[in-house]
Amino acid sequence: MEVKLIDYSSAPLEKLYAAFRTCYSSKTPIEIWEEITNGTIPKEKITSFIEERLKTGHSSPLEQIVFWFAVSGISRSCSHQLVRHHVGISFEQQSQRYVKYKEDKLEFITPKTIKSDPEIYDKYQKLMKEISDFYQLALSKGIPAEDARFILPNATPTNFHILVNFRELQHISDLRLCTRAQWEIRQLVAKMRSEIMKVLPELGKFLQPKCGEYRLGYCDEEYKEYVKCPLSKVRPHKEDLFNIFNEYITKEKIQKTQAKPLSEKEFQFIEESKLESNEELY
Ligand SMILES: Cc1cc2nc3c(=O)[nH]c(=O)nc-3n(C[C@H](O)[C@H](O)[C@H](O)COP(=O)(O)OP(=O)(O)OC[C@H]3O[C@@H](n4cnc5c(N)ncnc54)[C@H](O)[C@@H]3O)c2cc1C
Repeated sequence: MEVKLIDYSSAPLEKLYAAFRTCYSSKTPIEIWEEITNGTIPKEKITSFIEERLKTGHSSPLEQIVFWFAVSGISRSCSHQLVRHHVGISFEQQSQRYVKYKEDKLEFITPKTIKSDPEIYDKYQKLMKEISDFYQLALSKGIPAEDARFILPNATPTNFHILVNFRELQHISDLRLCTRAQWEIRQLVAKMRSEIMKVLPELGKFLQPKCGEYRLGYCDEEYKEYVKCPLSKVRPHKEDLFNIFNEYITKEKIQKTQAKPLSEKEFQFIEESKLESNEELY
């Protein structure tokens, strides 16, 4: 698998800063940009302002920063998972209609588990060779590539040119850097992250699995899966946090803030906009 960051939005930190500031400032975006370009706003202020904003749920400004990636040598199994992400991301994928795989280019992706079992690996290689031979035979007999490809397995390699905005990349990282994601897509997204870390660590550090300290912060997967995850040594589980919270509340007798399921009473409260005083509710 090869993953290369081809390009990204110019002045990404400045653009993010200006996008966020436009929301919160009486200044016009033109005035904000003048401040950026004439050096009134130092780089450190831009970075720290973005860091603060990134901790909040105001994430639409992140759509204004985009990245281009070139990806090659991932399996069709991985690519099928990748293209399920469809918001804020565009793909161009190598066609199996227009591209006729040469035998040497049909390097099937092999999972480690298959490689680690000699008997299985041997059979796998024979099967792949047979598939490859059938594919070449079909092409040589004039079967169009779009039909010959019906024999190709999930292990077939594929290539992509990808455009993705930072908001979607954060979301993809939330899901696919999680150790519960399948190994190949996890590896792919980890490589995308490390490409960004090389050039933009200020943003790259916000690409984490959802349990990361810059994201949700805790694991919300099934508890039995959490226990198996190596990251459970450094990240808490939601259930544990609530248990500790409830224990503390009970011990300190702070009854009002006990975590309980939301009842219709709370929704009535929301509807009637009595949020300034919770006395009426409890
Ligand atoms: C561990 C794991 C296991 C999975 N297993 C399966 C499986 O067994 N079968 C299967 O079919 N898929 C599976 N998936 C794929 C999963 O269901 C999603 O299709 C995939 O992760 C794409 O993510 P997304 O829906 O958040 O799409 P994205 O395009 O990344 O969407 C980004 C965000 O935009 C919003 N959004 C996107 N589309 C809509 C919409 N139509 N309406 C409203 N809001 C929207 C959502 O907030 C969404 O989170 C799995 C994914 C993971 C990570």
